Amino acid sequence: MKKGDKIGPFKVKKIESTIDIGNTIICDLCNEDYTNSDMCGGFIMGSYGVCPKCEPRMRARLKKYNEEDHIKAECPPGMTHREFIIRARGGNNIMQVASLE
Ligand SMILES: [Zn+2]
Repeated sequence: MKKGDKIGPFKVKKIESTIDIGNTIICDLCNEDYTNSDMCGGFIMGSYGVCPKCEPRMRARLKKYNEEDHIKAECPPGMTHREFIIRARGGNNIMQVASLE
């Protein structure tokens, strides 16, 4: 990921940092920490983890721009957001933090 990349209807404005996050679960949009949260829900948009709180807002935006095919995976009912993201990563814990336009 780099500046100018398109993620659905959004554009990467700036790469804030690249970090090895281990099992830390941070929402790629609002940066909220879900490492110790049992909240369920969320989805993967491109390579971004979207948390349960951002989900309704992002879903509405993707729908508006007809970009719902950017949703790569959805958290199965009853699974925590944390577990969903860890499974989705498949051991790749390198994360880039970016701000979007
Ligand atoms: Zn979020």
